[in-house]
Formats: sequence, C-alpha cells, structure tokens
Amino acid sequence: MIKKKPATKTKTTARKPSRKVSTKKRTESRVVSATCKKCGQTFKLDIGTKSKQEIVEILSKRDSFECPGHHFELSSPLNYWVIDWDSVKSQNVPTDAEWKADMRKKYKLISSDELQRDYTVTGFSSGVCVAIRKKDGEKVYLEFTNSPSGKRYYY
Ligand SMILES: [Zn+2]
Repeated sequence: MIKKKPATKTKTTARKPSRKVSTKKRTESRVVSATCKKCGQTFKLDIGTKSKQEIVEILSKRDSFECPGHHFELSSPLNYWVIDWDSVKSQNVPTDAEWKADMRKKYKLISSDELQRDYTVTGFSSGVCVAIRKKDGEKVYLEFTNSPSGKRYYY
C-alpha cells in the first residue's frame, strides 16, 4: 500500500526589512573615531554600551551600509572603515528631538520627506544639494547633515 504524504512544504521567503527604524532611548553612549578607506571621511561611530567584540560582530554581519562620506556599499563596513578603538569616549548623544531643536535655532531644517515634497533636487555639487523650490521656482543651495539617529536633514 502506498501512503500519500500530505504536502508539508512551507514557504521560507519572508524577507527582512532592509532598514530598521531605531527608536532608541537616550542612554549614556560611547563613540569611537573611524576613518573610511574609500572616501577618507573621518567620523564618530556610536557604539553605545557595547564592547569592541560585539561591535565587530554586528558590523561583520551587515551586508550593506551607508558611509557618512555619502556612498553606499553592498558589503560589511569593516571592509571600509578603520576604527580607532583607543579613541573610545563617553559622551551624551543628544536625542533627535534635542538635536533638531538645537539646529532649528540656527537653520531652517528640512527633512528628506519635506525636501521631496517641496523641492525638485537637480543635483549635488561640492557638498551641497542643489534644488528648485516648487512653490516659487527659486534655485536653492542646501547643505545636509545627519541627525544622531542617522536621518538626513537639509538646511
Ligand atoms: Zn566612505
């Protein structure tokens, strides 16, 4: 007698979202200096309360990243970044809200969403974003920076 097996195939094609939105709370945090071998950008890497080992492990598992030097790579940051572990420093990293409040004292801050909504970006040149303001057609030059949690803002 032949027994018929029930189909037990399950799909395993669930994809992970490529970008997680971090909703991290304010904590005492530590930063290290790092330099990118590709673009030469020196920047601070927020390692939180994690050890060097943990950070290396996390970074080695990443299969893509955006460098603070504005390029995107499909590879682990460890292949690009030279991290100066002797430079570990404790510092209080401001939350996004604090950072925004501070920036707004000096500049009119535009989020990436607002930029797309209100401007037509025509290009980037020497570190500034060139855009046309939709409502009056005026050409504007915007500098850009990242908030503590890594969101891009223009000003
Ligand atoms: Zn880089």
